[in-house]
Amino acid sequence: MSRSFHPPQRILLGPGPSNVEPRVLQAMLAPLLGHMDPVYFQCMDEIQDLLRSVFETGNRVTFTVSGTGGAGMETCLANLIDEGEEVVVCVNGFFGERMAELAARWGARVIRVDSDWGQPFDMQKVRDAFRKSSARVVTMVHAETSTGMRNPIEELKSLRDVRDAILVADTVTSLGAHPVGIDRNSIDASYSCSQKGIGAPPGLAPVTFSERALEKIRNRKAPPRTWYLDVQLLNKYWGSDRAYHHTAPALMNYALREALCMILEEGLEARWQRHERNSGTFVAGIEAMGLEMLVAPEYRLWSLNTVRVPDGVDDARVRSRLLNSHNIEIGSGFGVFKGKIWRVGLMGANSNQNTVLLLLAALKSAIATRA
Ligand SMILES: *Cc1c(COP(=O)(O)O)cnc(C)c1O
Repeated sequence: MSRSFHPPQRILLGPGPSNVEPRVLQAMLAPLLGHMDPVYFQCMDEIQDLLRSVFETGNRVTFTVSGTGGAGMETCLANLIDEGEEVVVCVNGFFGERMAELAARWGARVIRVDSDWGQPFDMQKVRDAFRKSSARVVTMVHAETSTGMRNPIEELKSLRDVRDAILVADTVTSLGAHPVGIDRNSIDASYSCSQKGIGAPPGLAPVTFSERALEKIRNRKAPPRTWYLDVQLLNKYWGSDRAYHHTAPALMNYALREALCMILEEGLEARWQRHERNSGTFVAGIEAMGLEMLVAPEYRLWSLNTVRVPDGVDDARVRSRLLNSHNIEIGSGFGVFKGKIWRVGLMGANSNQNTVLLLLAALKSAIATRA
């Protein structure tokens, strides 16, 4: 065994992680601080402010959970769900399924509103299911990474006409690439991750909670069964008390801080437009090659682009050619789309024209190569 590890320089165009700007990696080389150091507290304050800007929210309780996107999902559900209460979960892909699974594990009686994977929700069905139930919590995945579909979290607020709904949105693959408008869309709780649209390494989950969500959490019958992901305890550390809860992964937070600074330096609008433009270039190239996108244009994500594997082409063989001959990673389909689609992430640093052109050329050659 050699003494150090020398991984290859890959171009990461799968569903995340995505390549990280050198400036973000550089930030991790800064001196390590303890989690109770006043200078680290300043860094935490800055991260909270930066996250509020990127989430487009004024929510006081906005911070990072030490864990990946899945820990963010678990944090939102474990804190918001009281044992035995009904929860409406919208499912049209793998991550919607996972929300249903986690909600059930945290004690919810899950009311699913299903659409086929890759098909839009019928919002009337969502409203009807909500009206007929006793649920307060309703969940939706904004960017369904398993299918490349953008779901209408902006339409959830119409549920407030029925009852005082608590709206939960998964913004794991949208934050930093698509507008999420947490306040504008009346979303009460949302979680994301560091390694997709934000452009930092994996390991942190940004979360945000509205006052209405916090009120529901404060009125729980019993504390959530998770101690590590208890929002009120975490907020005693992130909030003004600064009470020790767990050892902060400080270097990861430096990296996230740097990536968030880069997002605001670019400007949110400009960043969204860049993701839209480069996704458009990719789609134009794919269609010029005679290939087809999975999702209808009006529902397509810019951050995660799904291409149908053409008949007679071996999905896995093309992906391994891309990896071995071009150092490019793309994602495979799973569930009902196993072997049927490629999932191409164009997020953060990788949403640029050169990368798109490189990928199109490599994909064309990988498909054309026989055996
Ligand atoms: C990636 C992803 C997650 C899970 O995030 P991890 O960082 O892998 O834990 C959750 N939801 C969606 C929509 C995702 O794309």
